Amino acid sequence: MATLDRTRLASLLDAEQAAYTSNHPRSRTLFGEAGNLFGRVPMTWMNMWTGGFPLYLDRATGNRVTDVDGHTYIDFALGDTGAMAGHSPAPTVAAVQRRMGELGGITTMLPTEDAQWVGADLTRRFGMPLWSFTLSATDANRWAIRLARLATGRPKVLVFAYCYHGSVDEAFALPGPEGKTESRPGNVAPPVDLDLTTRAVTWNDLDAVEKALAHGDVAAILTEPALTNIGIVPPEPGFMEGLRELATKYGALLMIDETHTFSTGWGGATRAWGLQPDIFVIGKSIGGGIPSGAYGITEDVARAVTRHTDAGEADIVDVGGVGGTLAGNALSTAAMRATLGEVLTEDAFAHMTELATAFTAGVQATLDELDVPWSINQLGARAEYRFARPAPTTGEASAAAADEELDAYMHLAMVNRGILMTPFHNMALMCPETSREDVDRHTAVFREVVGALFV
Ligand code: PMP
Repeated sequence: MATLDRTRLASLLDAEQAAYTSNHPRSRTLFGEAGNLFGRVPMTWMNMWTGGFPLYLDRATGNRVTDVDGHTYIDFALGDTGAMAGHSPAPTVAAVQRRMGELGGITTMLPTEDAQWVGADLTRRFGMPLWSFTLSATDANRWAIRLARLATGRPKVLVFAYCYHGSVDEAFALPGPEGKTESRPGNVAPPVDLDLTTRAVTWNDLDAVEKALAHGDVAAILTEPALTNIGIVPPEPGFMEGLRELATKYGALLMIDETHTFSTGWGGATRAWGLQPDIFVIGKSIGGGIPSGAYGITEDVARAVTRHTDAGEADIVDVGGVGGTLAGNALSTAAMRATLGEVLTEDAFAHMTELATAFTAGVQATLDELDVPWSINQLGARAEYRFARPAPTTGEASAAAADEELDAYMHLAMVNRGILMTPFHNMALMCPETSREDVDRHTAVFREVVGALFV
């Protein structure tokens, strides 16, 4: 197995950093001038981009992004899934322009016909019969957790170590000693001790799930069908089925967050793998970049909720804590209708998955040729490599494989050669406009930059 020479890595990284700095003077200047922004960026996480300052966007279309210094990139980051439909897809733009211009009424608190069309489409894809809209996946998770607590009368959420579901307080949790739940390192000022709200267990460990559920205080298991925020860590055979069985056995709801795993196919992993969630959450991509999210519930969950609301014990209409003023607005629902109806179609998923398969094979070929101790996993239209071989099967093992220096080198080397990878991951996502030539370009660049490392 090839070994990593840290001295070599450091000098390659220095060279990539120098090229990045000198090639992006305008981005660097704008960052330097952004003194009224906390962290000099519109949102603090934008400092995750490697290189000391982020690229500033000039324009983007399809899978191409152009920065203010005039460089155009093949974009495999696609807004970390927010732009899975490609940047500014024409049907979405047309629908949004019509709503904003000709029709008017971006946000009025009134429903539009589009919302029912979107609800019916989400039912066709994911099976849940009843939907509510949000403007982000985070909010969909937050509001659905409230409903799960109401429906079951239980206080806790079960999550997996190194999951991510947006800025949801309950989910920043790790299993601690003696069955206690601990706050994940870096968690910003948790409002209460995580042990009060959460049971955290290791991914792919059904025994641990059963032990946690046996306490009888878990309202919902909240999970992605595969972890995607600590590399892609797929479920082992039988794991998702086991979660469904255990949830039913112990009276907890199964809440599936497909914000990223929608990449698996037209109906997400839920359809592809026959999952049977009680609550389904999605966000990011479904509005083609216009803020949108949704959660779906079964008739059983709806009945369990309305039992309490009918009795006056909770309020889902006024200020009970489920909803946002702009949620389900006319612009967002118009964008979702166009994006789901005309862009993220079954044909588009077939094309995107074929390309992600080629991307994965391209990376694997270099890893095999040079005997590099890394691995790559694919989930439909998305693929991600990790600095570990074999591929980790738990969040903890995948977290342990993190390597900041390597990460920085790979991201900068890619940017310097015209390729954008997601800053939080070594993730590549395909959109309808991604082409085989784009994937082949990545394959060649990956061979070059990994080859420079493992000579
Ligand atoms: N769920 C999952 C699985 C996610 O990966 C993310 C974001 N990466 C979210 C929810 C939250 O999405 P948003 O930040 O758009 O609310």
